[in-house]
Amino acid sequence: MLQGKTALVTGSTSGIGLGIAKALAQQGANIVLNGFGDVEGPKAEIAALGVKVAYHGADMSKANEIEAMMKFAADTFGRVDILVNNAGIQHVAKVEDFPVERWDAIIAINLTSAFHATRLALPAMKAANWGRIINVASIHGLVGSAEKSAYVAAKHGVVGLTKVTALENATTGVTCNAICPGWVLTPLVQKQVDAKAVAMGLSNEEAKKQLLREKEPSMQFTTPEELGELAVFFCSAAGNNVRGVAWNMDGGWTAQ
Ligand code: NAD
Repeated sequence: MLQGKTALVTGSTSGIGLGIAKALAQQGANIVLNGFGDVEGPKAEIAALGVKVAYHGADMSKANEIEAMMKFAADTFGRVDILVNNAGIQHVAKVEDFPVERWDAIIAINLTSAFHATRLALPAMKAANWGRIINVASIHGLVGSAEKSAYVAAKHGVVGLTKVTALENATTGVTCNAICPGWVLTPLVQKQVDAKAVAMGLSNEEAKKQLLREKEPSMQFTTPEELGELAVFFCSAAGNNVRGVAWNMDGGWTAQ
């Protein structure tokens, strides 16, 4: 379905980003990976799906590195047809204790990077009259949780950016939508499981159940594979007129 298209997924060396990159590659899209940590493993996983894969290590908190990444993607594959703004970090503390440096980093990586990548991707998408911008927001783009001020502010911002990008391109073949996962058991959430286990004197398994019990009626984690399938739907012909939505995959979190 996506043969000949190129997808750039930020923060795709791990977790949700890697799951989405794999799902798009399974549909035939060439992939530009980005993110820190192990690169060769994710590259090999994508290449095994029979598509071309490239990597750029831009730090998503830096506008000039994002510019270099977008240029690299265009030079390597001709154009970015699908942009998935996924890179993100978390820090948990009360507002009055929140380290200023962590606030700035979360806003830069979780929100401002999506603005930069989007503004740089749009001209070529509009020229081709086809494009998909998928912002991995969070259920925290729709509701708040204590001790996550920067994250919740950034993710609400991402949902706002999604709506405006969708509206500005509503008469074109370029769509923009957000994905709002509840809990997904990635390294980002495992840190919160570990903290809960220590704070409450629980085992790893009990801490996971406690985390789910507090928010998700389904008592199940959403998986990167499920989120990948939602991204594939947005890229399909059925997604042509899906514009500016913030789509929950949250086990009932926000239905309560
Ligand atoms: P993760 O920690 O597994 O992956 C984060 C990715 O972002 C990694 O590839 C990492 O290298 C990359 N990254 C971090 N800082 C970066 C930077 N400065 N520049 C470039 N890359 C950077 O986390 P995840 O859970 O897969 O999170 C992915 C996205 O999904 C984030 O935006 C997160 O907020 C969102 N999300 C996660 C959950 C969840 O429960 N895990 C729920 C809702 C939304």
